[in-house]
Amino acid sequence: MLPVKVWIREVGPRDGLQMEKKFIPTERKVSLIGSLVEAGLKKIEVTSFVNPKAVAQLKDAEEVVRLLKANDQVEFSALVLNKRGMERAVASGIPEVVLVVSATETHSLRNGGRSISQVLQEMSRMARLGAKEGIRLRGAVAVAFGCPFEGEVPVAALERVVGAMSESGSRQITLADTAGLASPVQVRRVLQFFRDQYRDIAWGLHFHDTRGLALVNVYAGLEEGVTLFESSVGGLGGCPFIPNAAGNVATEDLVNMLAMLGLETGVDLEKLVKIAGELESLLGRTLPSRLLRLSEQAGCV
Ligand code: ZN
Repeated sequence: MLPVKVWIREVGPRDGLQMEKKFIPTERKVSLIGSLVEAGLKKIEVTSFVNPKAVAQLKDAEEVVRLLKANDQVEFSALVLNKRGMERAVASGIPEVVLVVSATETHSLRNGGRSISQVLQEMSRMARLGAKEGIRLRGAVAVAFGCPFEGEVPVAALERVVGAMSESGSRQITLADTAGLASPVQVRRVLQFFRDQYRDIAWGLHFHDTRGLALVNVYAGLEEGVTLFESSVGGLGGCPFIPNAAGNVATEDLVNMLAMLGLETGVDLEKLVKIAGELESLLGRTLPSRLLRLSEQAGCV
C-alpha cells in the first residue's frame, strides 16, 4: 500500500548550488526558482542563512529572498543552523525556516562549528522567535542514516535530536541521508520506530545518491507511508563538509518514478528536464540526472 498523494520539496537552489565554486549571479538563482515554480513545484528550499565564509555561494541569501516573486501557492523556505541564522532569516521575511541539527558530534562541529547540545539549547529560543514573527519552523536531522566520520548512527542519537525538535514545536521533521549511506531496510526500520513513537510528526525524507540507492530508499519510505521527499533538479549537489558525497536524487528522476507508480505530484516533467538541461549549460558539466540523458537521446531537450 502506497500513499495516494506525495509532495516534493525541491532543494536544488540550496543543497544543490551550495557546492558550486563559481558564484552564480543572484538574478540567475532567482530565475531558477521561478522556473521551478512554473514547473509545478509547491515547496522550494531557496537558500541558507549560514556563515558566508563557509558557504560563499549562498552569501546572497537576503537578496534571493527579497527578489522572490510572492506566490501563495508555493512554500518557500530557507535553512539555518543557529540563532544568528534564524535572526537573519526572520529579518529577510522568508515565511518558513528549517533548522538543521546533525545526529553526530563530528558532523555537527564540521557543518556548523558547534556541538549538538549547543544547537539544541538554542532551539527552543529560536522556535519562540519564529512563532512570534509568524514563521513556520520545521526540523531536519543531518547524517540521520550514517555519518562519514562516525559511521553508524544509533537510533538513540537520532531520537535525542528528534525528541528535542518535537518538544520545541516542530511538527515536520526531515530525516536526511546527507552522505548517501542509507539502505532501504534501515529506512524502513527507522521510520517504523519513529512513526510509532511520534505520531503527530509529518516525516520527510532526503536522500543523496552516493551509492545509487536514493530511489530505492524513497520507495522504502513510501511503503512506510512517508509523503514528502526532497530532491534537486538535475541531481545537483553534495555537501561541502562531507568528502565524496554525491548530489541529491534528481527531482525529474523522482517525479518520473512516482508517476510510474501512479502517484501524482503536479510537477511538469518536460519543464523540469528543460531546467536541468539549462543548468548543465550554466555549470558547464554533466549532471547525474538519468532522465536528462534519456531526453537527449529522444531529441526533445
Ligand atoms: Zn542534502
